Amino acid sequence: MKIGIVGSGPAGLTAAIQIKRKYMDSEVSIFEYMPKVGKKLLASGNGKGNVSNANMSVDYYNTNLVKDIIKMDVVGFLNSCGILTKQDKEGRIYPYNEQAQMVVECLKLEIYELGIKIIPEKVVGIGVNYLSTFFNNYYFDKIIIASGGKSQEFLGSDGSMFRAIQGLGHTVTELKPALCPIKTKEDFSDIQGLRCKVSARAYNGEDFYEDKGELLFKEDGISGIIVFQISSIFARSSFGYVTFDFFPDMSEDELVDVIKSLKQDRYIDLALMGIINRKLLNHILGDTRGKFLKDFDPSILAYKLKNYKIECIKNYDFVQSQVTVGGVPLEELKDNLESKLVPNIYFIGEVLNVDGLSGGYNIHFAISSALWLSSKL
Ligand SMILES: Cc1cc2nc3c(=O)[nH]c(=O)nc-3n(C[C@H](O)[C@H](O)[C@H](O)COP(=O)(O)OP(=O)(O)OC[C@H]3O[C@@H](n4cnc5c(N)ncnc54)[C@H](O)[C@@H]3O)c2cc1C
Repeated sequence: MKIGIVGSGPAGLTAAIQIKRKYMDSEVSIFEYMPKVGKKLLASGNGKGNVSNANMSVDYYNTNLVKDIIKMDVVGFLNSCGILTKQDKEGRIYPYNEQAQMVVECLKLEIYELGIKIIPEKVVGIGVNYLSTFFNNYYFDKIIIASGGKSQEFLGSDGSMFRAIQGLGHTVTELKPALCPIKTKEDFSDIQGLRCKVSARAYNGEDFYEDKGELLFKEDGISGIIVFQISSIFARSSFGYVTFDFFPDMSEDELVDVIKSLKQDRYIDLALMGIINRKLLNHILGDTRGKFLKDFDPSILAYKLKNYKIECIKNYDFVQSQVTVGGVPLEELKDNLESKLVPNIYFIGEVLNVDGLSGGYNIHFAISSALWLSSKL
């Protein structure tokens, strides 16, 4: 059996390894146009390689159609390639040595030992049983598309495969950047670069999301893991509002008591300096020059500091996003991830209309979809 795989991300590498292990006589080739394999995997988790999450549930994905696929044993597969893992207290799973590079190296070694070929060419066309590059047509019994999404094209996956996929008659749902900073109506140039711990509530009429984490202000928007998560929720439906609580560990009544306990005759920013950044306070309250703490009603002040509402306009571009929302709909595939339209063509990983929240869910899906496909082939 001759298998051609487009893309050497976690999905393509996993599929190649598992299929070759299962069918030793098969001839497996991976097409990759970047000079290195697994470039996004290398960048993941800030170079530490956040490859999965112990808290695995369909709730972290855009669709419950993946509920069985995500149960595949991703950690077991990594272990079988010599990659030991560990998890942090939030459940994020990393390679034991916290180096994404070692994950890629171990997978590469496995590829080499199994005799899987890497063809350093860009696939520009797909047809029934063939892939074409600028130089050649290659013929296969089965073709697996693992070409990723459109985010950060300098790491591969520039989205160019989507045109070829549409040429097969498949739908590609609207592609949008996610897991990225969000542009806001409000300008934050006065506090850009400022970080603080918050709890956030995001809502747009359809979806509601609540979490705690670090917020980073940018000149024209907001960032931080908590914002990345919200960017995914908004990208999947529509943009809305986020309300930040700058005192997530205190109730509103407790904050009122704290405010009352402070020196009322001081200028407000000086009086509150011990509990909130002065620049942030001035941004929230507007111009407070010449105003004393006693000039403010403690209840109204506490409410403002715990319910700061920001209107979100859009996500930053693909170049700053970690994942792409949209892709080939699972509805157009059979249970084994084979196209319902063209026999012997399969899709795995981020090229599908599947995206997860930050925390290892996207690499987990890339690997688990490859394991699922291999188990059914
Ligand atoms: C900076 C960054 C950090 C991230 N951190 C995390 C994280 O910590 N945890 C997590 O779970 N996810 C993370 N992600 C997301 C995760 O990396 C991706 O979801 C995952 O790599 C998708 O795997 P994939 O195999 O489907 O596609 P990809 O990893 O994108 O691989 C697709 C490959 O196909 C190749 N290709 C595309 N088109 C062609 C073609 N026409 N011909 C030949 N080759 C082609 C590309 O060059 C690429 O190498 C991060 C992403 C980025 C950008």
